[in-house]
Amino acid sequence: MPKPRKQKVSNKVRLGLFWAIIVLIGLSLYAAFMPAKPLQEVPIAQVIRDANEGKVAKIEGQGGDLQVTMKGENKPSKRTYLGGGVSSLLKDNILNEKGRAVVSDSAPVDNSVMLTLMTVVLPVLLIGALFVFMMRQAQGQNSQAMSFGKSKARLYGLDKERVVFDDIAGNDNAKQDLQEVVDFLKHPKKYQSLGAKIPKGVLLVGDPGTGKTMLARAVAGEADVPFFSISGSEFVEMFVGVGASRVRDLFQKAKKNAPAIVFIDEIDAVGRKRGSGMGGGHDEREQTLNQILVEMDGFEADTNVIVIAATNRADVLDPALLRPGRFDRHVTISLPERKDREAILKVHFKNKPTDDTVDLDKLAAKTAGSSGADLANIANEAAIIAARRNSKKVSNDDLTEAFEKVAIGPERKAKVMNDHEKELTAYHEAGHAIVGHVLPDSDSVHKITIIPRGGTGGVTWFLPPEDRSYTNVYEFKDILARALGGRIAEKLIYGDDGITTGAGSDLRHAAKVARNMIVEQGMGSKLRDQVFHEDNGGMVFDKITHDRPYSEATAQEIDNEVEALIKEASVRAETILSKNRAVLEKLKDALLKNETLEEEDAAKYMKDAVLPKEVKLHA
Ligand code: ADP
Repeated sequence: MPKPRKQKVSNKVRLGLFWAIIVLIGLSLYAAFMPAKPLQEVPIAQVIRDANEGKVAKIEGQGGDLQVTMKGENKPSKRTYLGGGVSSLLKDNILNEKGRAVVSDSAPVDNSVMLTLMTVVLPVLLIGALFVFMMRQAQGQNSQAMSFGKSKARLYGLDKERVVFDDIAGNDNAKQDLQEVVDFLKHPKKYQSLGAKIPKGVLLVGDPGTGKTMLARAVAGEADVPFFSISGSEFVEMFVGVGASRVRDLFQKAKKNAPAIVFIDEIDAVGRKRGSGMGGGHDEREQTLNQILVEMDGFEADTNVIVIAATNRADVLDPALLRPGRFDRHVTISLPERKDREAILKVHFKNKPTDDTVDLDKLAAKTAGSSGADLANIANEAAIIAARRNSKKVSNDDLTEAFEKVAIGPERKAKVMNDHEKELTAYHEAGHAIVGHVLPDSDSVHKITIIPRGGTGGVTWFLPPEDRSYTNVYEFKDILARALGGRIAEKLIYGDDGITTGAGSDLRHAAKVARNMIVEQGMGSKLRDQVFHEDNGGMVFDKITHDRPYSEATAQEIDNEVEALIKEASVRAETILSKNRAVLEKLKDALLKNETLEEEDAAKYMKDAVLPKEVKLHA
């Protein structure tokens, strides 16, 4: 990779320069403070005598002050005083007679001039140099005062950091789609000879961490071309116009290195729908976006630069970006399925020694909904946990701990709860678990714990038996009921006045699920099969400036429907828990005793739980 090597060299040069400056400063300080040797005062008669004996090399002076340089010396060592200056007498006596000493009546080169030079000018110069040096350093790091119009694109070369399709587990469809792009880059002539235009832009759409950046780099790696990467948010700065000039610079660099890949991560940071025109941020985004469009349109037919952009929100992008000739190829990257998750885990455990308890397939089964980045994170956490135990190999327990840490946050054993809080948490979690356990369309209980984790007092964890792509209305309703199970259990035991703040996040979750059912999924009773999605691009200003696409009456109806769903769920949960009071007590006691119950144990304590007849099965 050329850049880091260059960086290394320039780092060495900088270090050398730094030390050179330090040494120079030291020398000049030494020169400045080194005591000058005082000249020996001698009578004029002796000077004349020495001169006559041929020992004097030079006599210099102005006025009556004479300085004498003896033979074999290179600067004056004696001084004398002669009223009347370098007189003809001296010249006659010394120079003319013997011709051995040079007498000049100019001022001697004064040491002190040199000294002044050393002590004043040199340090100033050096400090100046140091200052400039530091300025440049700082500028390189952050302020970019001189070059903020330049793109900060990173160039990845073709050597060590090269990524190829084989480094990416799963994602087969995306790889297949992108194989075509590799071919365009490798054999452009093949397409051009048939008059086909090489596509300019490919949009990768997928959840964060699904490997979009990796795929884009793999395209460059497979095609053996340079890869320029920049994030959409890096275009946007405080100054209007900077983004546009960065875009220009980036494309210029890429064209110079063609064939090449330009990768724009988070394109939604600049590519959101234009037009609400409120606030300076919009103007800057629009200018940047316009510049991207201009650059892409300006590619000549044989410019072999392909722009790959990534986003997780294709729906908010400006239509101009998506029209033919721009980002007209879309590659969707979905969250990995079970077998892909196993493959990804295998990639990330390739150089982590594991013992035979580790079962990656089982972990893959449990991690539905995790992205590649989440799985990489779990693998890394497991290795850290094993290392902290001073173990040489990663065990299944490390893996489980890592998974739970990543999924719901680390255990907070240090958080102290008093006995009442502990009991309340046990009832609360038991409430979630029992409601979820008896309802037929709910996922099964995977784990219950009353050890605080992340920001919660306890956790009841439901896991689906297998991956699922759709959720039906009954499953949603069971999710709502079990989410409210905690609060209802508290209410049953402690009465209406005994409820606490612990259920806040459950209620928020329930409200979100219920609203999603009505607004996005058309699952209301009156408002069935209609969606009320507000396509507002998600910006704060858009929320203010865009009209809601439905009337005030509909908004009221949505609220009513949401309320009805929540009410129904809470009635179901209450019926279930009041019919299963004994199981609730049993599970609570078990939780207080063990703090954590795994799937099998939890099921054992709940085996007597029943689904009351009154609870409509498919409510
Ligand atoms: P995105 O750009 O979609 O947010 P990245 O490409 O940056 O995601 O992926 C983040 C990390 O996740 C990668 O560095 C890699 O370690 C891991 N990762 C994601 N998907 C995969 C995959 N399919 N195979 C192997 N590792 C993956």
